Amino acid sequence: MENKIFQSIDGLFKESLKYFKVKNIENINYKRISIIGKGNSISSLPFKKGSTLIDLEIEKKIKLRKNKRIIEVSGNMEAFKVHNFLLKKKFFFPSFPSYPMVTIGACIANCTHGISPKFGVMRDYVKEIVLYNPNFGTKVLSKRKNSKLFNLTIGGMGLTGVIIKAKLQVFKLKSSYISISDNKKFDNFNDVYNFLKKNNHIYNQNNLFFKFGKNEFIISRISSGNFTKSNYNFKSLDVSNIKSFRLGFLRISFFRKLLEKLLLIKEYTTNQKLIHINEAFFPSNSRLIYFNLMSKKFMENQVIIPHKNVKLFFKNFQKLYNKYSPIITLGHLKIFDGKGEYLQFNGKGLGLTLHFIIDKNFYEFYQKFLKLNIKYKCKPNLYKNSIIQINDIKNFYSKDFKKFSHEIRKINKKFFFENRLFYQDNFYK
Ligand SMILES: Cc1cc2nc3c(=O)[nH]c(=O)nc-3n(C[C@H](O)[C@H](O)[C@H](O)COP(=O)(O)OP(=O)(O)OC[C@H]3O[C@@H](n4cnc5c(N)ncnc54)[C@H](O)[C@@H]3O)c2cc1C
Repeated sequence: MENKIFQSIDGLFKESLKYFKVKNIENINYKRISIIGKGNSISSLPFKKGSTLIDLEIEKKIKLRKNKRIIEVSGNMEAFKVHNFLLKKKFFFPSFPSYPMVTIGACIANCTHGISPKFGVMRDYVKEIVLYNPNFGTKVLSKRKNSKLFNLTIGGMGLTGVIIKAKLQVFKLKSSYISISDNKKFDNFNDVYNFLKKNNHIYNQNNLFFKFGKNEFIISRISSGNFTKSNYNFKSLDVSNIKSFRLGFLRISFFRKLLEKLLLIKEYTTNQKLIHINEAFFPSNSRLIYFNLMSKKFMENQVIIPHKNVKLFFKNFQKLYNKYSPIITLGHLKIFDGKGEYLQFNGKGLGLTLHFIIDKNFYEFYQKFLKLNIKYKCKPNLYKNSIIQINDIKNFYSKDFKKFSHEIRKINKKFFFENRLFYQDNFYK
């Protein structure tokens, strides 16, 4: 065991933690345990002072059963390696996040979504999990076997134990390219929303920028498309780590305007008709510099707004925005169309992601913004948010929170799995 400094991407956590590389899972006998994948949840989710942060160092294995369209993969394997393995064999997996330097175990633990959550999120593609928890040993979980623990583990943020390996549903690729059929600019929120809601494209990449005191509150560009019929080219997806320095340029409106122009104009002028799957499904990967331009502290707020509340939410959000002037560097929209059990981030509605710069005025705005989110029954994404507190989760997830808490407390009697949100002093009482 060693002590190591960890820092969250959003800059809201930087501390030295007890850290242990696990080669043999049976060696896990710390009383308070938290698990790290790559530490790239944006937030400080895996980091809990007082816990021992464990990092799986078991042998990474991957196997494809072509006839069943299933892969079996170790929990500590990185998503980009799985993607490259599959691509070579003309298969792909649709629910990895837009930045692929993350582990499979963490993607299951967070129930991540890809570019098109409308067609499914992680929970729809996990077929089996092998879980280790020193409270009960190793268990195999699926919809049929230990189904309650299976559902709790997907989106359970590492609280049910260590995901050692998993079986995932994968899809056959006819082509490795997306053909862009629409590349539209919008300056009206309802038009953007309706466009996204009505189209059935697999790819709907968009950026959203906001304006003070204007009727045309937003400006956005969406490029959309589907896989081409047959056009196959294997290119390895390369990833780099997000560097920890923050230049703070995006605090300044001139640079935000520049970013807006670059992102909106670039997609105007390139006239790119075909996009390789590597760029289409992992758009953040080529834009990591964005984080270096960010301020030292920022927050990614992602919520699913139920369809029936979207218009009112947005109208009131516009008022709040004009009153408090929070600095939003970028927004994204995604349609969700599924079910979320316990605290899984899924549902039916509009997914709205906003990047807020944290300055001295932010928290006053945030309190009002939280209330707005609760009022319109939005579902927050817990794993991206370092500010949300356990009492807020109770407000947002009420019954699901109670059910989740009850089950997690039942599981962890002697050894306590923890994370930033759920830990011994505020949860296992
Ligand atoms: C640029 C960028 C873009 C992103 N885009 C998206 C996106 O499009 N969609 C999306 O859903 N998310 C997105 N995310 C969030 C991120 O991809 C996910 O949170 C991902 O799960 C993080 O993986 P990680 O390996 O870094 O996990 P960590 O941050 O290390 O851990 C995440 C959680 O998983 C638990 N955990 C880790 N390993 C295991 C294991 N083996 N067993 C059990 N629990 C475990 C941890 O305890 C923790 O609670 C993005 C993040 C970044 C930085």
